[in-house]
Amino acid sequence: MTTKQAPSTLQKMGLDSPMALALHLPSRYEDETELFTIEEALNQGRFSSIQTQGIVIRNQVLFRPRRQMLVTIEDETATLQLRFLNFYPSQQKQMAVGAHIRVRGEVREGFQGPEIVHPTVRGVAADAPLPTSLTPVYPASAGVSQAVIRKAVVQALRDPSLQDSLAEFLPKKLMTELLPGNNWLSLQSAISYLHQPPSDANTQALLERTDPAWRRVQFEELLAQQISLKRAHAIRRERHAPSFAKPSKEKSLEANLIKALPFTLTGAQARVWSEISHDLEKSFPMNRLLQGDVGSGKTVVAALAAARVIDHGYQAAVMAPTEILAEQHYLKMKEWFEPLGVRIAWLSGSLKAKEKRLSQEMIESGQAQLIIGTHALIQESVSFSKLGLAVIDEQHRFGVRQRLEIQQRLGSELFYCHQLMMSATPIPRTLAMTYYADLDVSVIDELPPGRKPITTKVVKASRRDEVIGGLQSWLSKGLQAYWVCPLIEESEALQLQTAVESYEQLTQALPNFKVGLVHGRLKAEEKAAVMAAFKANEIQLLVATTVIEVGVDVPNAALMVIEHAERFGYAQIHQLRGRVGRGSADSVCILMYAEPLSMAAKERLQTLREVSDGFVIAERDLSLRGPGELLGAKQSGDGMLRFVDLQRDAWLIELAQQAAERLLAEHADLVERHLERWLGSRAEFLKA
Ligand code: ADP
Ligand code: MG
Repeated sequence: MTTKQAPSTLQKMGLDSPMALALHLPSRYEDETELFTIEEALNQGRFSSIQTQGIVIRNQVLFRPRRQMLVTIEDETATLQLRFLNFYPSQQKQMAVGAHIRVRGEVREGFQGPEIVHPTVRGVAADAPLPTSLTPVYPASAGVSQAVIRKAVVQALRDPSLQDSLAEFLPKKLMTELLPGNNWLSLQSAISYLHQPPSDANTQALLERTDPAWRRVQFEELLAQQISLKRAHAIRRERHAPSFAKPSKEKSLEANLIKALPFTLTGAQARVWSEISHDLEKSFPMNRLLQGDVGSGKTVVAALAAARVIDHGYQAAVMAPTEILAEQHYLKMKEWFEPLGVRIAWLSGSLKAKEKRLSQEMIESGQAQLIIGTHALIQESVSFSKLGLAVIDEQHRFGVRQRLEIQQRLGSELFYCHQLMMSATPIPRTLAMTYYADLDVSVIDELPPGRKPITTKVVKASRRDEVIGGLQSWLSKGLQAYWVCPLIEESEALQLQTAVESYEQLTQALPNFKVGLVHGRLKAEEKAAVMAAFKANEIQLLVATTVIEVGVDVPNAALMVIEHAERFGYAQIHQLRGRVGRGSADSVCILMYAEPLSMAAKERLQTLREVSDGFVIAERDLSLRGPGELLGAKQSGDGMLRFVDLQRDAWLIELAQQAAERLLAEHADLVERHLERWLGSRAEFLKA
């Protein structure tokens, strides 16, 4: 180990080897290669950081208006004041009168003339040499100084073992063929360059991470990712899963279900069903994502897949991330399957112990053919007798840990079943290529007939009374509506209208209609009762927290008011408003916002008003939040790509994909080394 100074803190940051340090690349740079006299600094440095030096001629600690330290330095040209609003005794000592210091910062006009607030300070002799390269600034955690990291990195770069770790093993031929005319740095020189760029480096390109040295590193990282995804793909094909041939007889469950449906499949539904049907016939596990905007009719496709599997004497499970959503599936499936004699079991965390045991017994004995529930389905205590298909709805809304659990359980050595994921959040292409290369994707790109587009309006909260007036005439036409509130708990700081308050206000304002309330604190039975009443039109206006975000299906409800819409993200609002526009009435979504509105919120609401295409919205969302959050990987705190930005570096992904293919085909021996170098322990997260 080369890091004697502070081994424990560096190690906590994962910087425990020369290689780890070498890959700990700067987040930005400071230019300390130039030195100005104080006069020059005063004259030209007002808008950017500048370096100068001098002798301390005064050092005062003031206590009013607040505790602070004022230091004045002088050289032969002028004097300059430094102000520290926060300082340690060690700094007082470093900047004692008579000391020579070199400082760096932005000169600004203060109350008593020009000054630098919180400059970086170094005590050095007046003739101390200037660095010849830009000074790297590293990502650091609390308690680790830049100086400690810099020193450790410099030592690591000199470590002989690094020669080997960073050895070039991408065949030159491959690189030049893939990137003709591109002058690629070797990995080793790219890394050295990024740690110690020369003073004439293109600082803009370094900062924006578009410099050729960054490109090289990004390419390597993407390559490792593409390789591991392709390998997962190959491994899956070697696994064994039961194959479910198309039934030949007209009397199959599948055929009966189609006959019993009150509608015919849309073209898009028929197409994705044939893709899925094809997968189910294979003897290796399906791993398919069924993507379709809210309301596009994914459920019935899942039901058909379940029917196929049940026809062959296997069990099918449908799992959803929330109780409400799981329950919606349960009700729908019951409606479709019970008349056809299919035995259905329901399992969720909120079941009483006895009911749970009963469900578990049905599942274990094989008596249950179709099993519907929440995350409770993959708990240890549940063992399926013959699981052939797992449908996972809105899988990105499960936590990372839960997703890993699902993968581990369904992909266990003993048994591989077919998996169908469903999502209304479209995954942008760049994301699909990097995170989901082992996922086949089917898209329902057509809504069932008769759907009307949803008109979205953006309205100030001060026009609440008008909105309620409009609601009144809406309900008078025999239509129903949702009123969505972001929070249930009183929170004065955020000035959020509570659901309870809104419920009470709306109950009073609309005496001729029944208003219902559903929120996360209700027990499952209570929620179910309210939802059933709404569905039966016993309740006309449903006041709800975001528990209705996904899956609720009441075609007669074609108006939705969202309170404090500025507090919701893109995807949330898009999903919410997908609850309306399901019947034949013209649908309206009113986004009510409270002022002041941030720029970001303003843009978001505007986009949502103008755009109804889920793909466009997802792209905007991705550019704002980054993929981790979109995929639900936020909790992991472990970015899968450290140096790549999917938007900025999209063109590199395709190159990496081609390189991965060729490397696997032509140089299988190099693949392992490359993966180890880049992914190490993080490889596992790729599967979740
Ligand atoms: P999502 O894709 O959001 O899960 P659902 O599966 O809940 O959408 O379907 C939304 C609604 O559309 C449901 O009421 C469903 O019964 C209905 N539906 C699905 N397919 C069709 C179709 N081909 N024609 C008419 N209605 C359909
Ligand atoms: Mg759904």
